[in-house]
Amino acid sequence: MCLFCKIVAGTIPATVVAKSTHSLAFRDIEPQAPTHVLVIPRRHVGNVADLAHDPQELADLFRLAGQVAEDEGLDRGYRMVANTGSLGGQVVFHAHVHVLGGRRMQWPPG
Ligand code: 5GP
Ligand code: ZN
Repeated sequence: MCLFCKIVAGTIPATVVAKSTHSLAFRDIEPQAPTHVLVIPRRHVGNVADLAHDPQELADLFRLAGQVAEDEGLDRGYRMVANTGSLGGQVVFHAHVHVLGGRRMQWPPG
């Protein structure tokens, strides 16, 4: 079972901030901004592009990400990031979107 599947199963602890039908949101263990939450599908899928084969699950994930941003008070803006593949900086190969905020985000990203 992959790391994030273990978090879904509850065998690895995480600070869960929100849940929806198909998705789970929890705090990143190594936050890169005052708010840094990971939003993942409960079902194992390798990346967000593959998740797009199921529009319902994809929409559920982004809806929850938006909800988290609202709950965290990020009304002045935030960033959603989906690192995809090793060159894209993906380390955990279970689809996830980072919700980052609480400071000004830089562009271009590294
Ligand atoms: P990626 O680089 O794959 O886009 O992001 C993976 C993220 O998962 C990283 O930001 C990393 O800090 C986070 N992470 C890795 N292991 C754990 C863990 O055990 N618990 C939590 N909450 N986050 C983790
Ligand atoms: Zn998984």
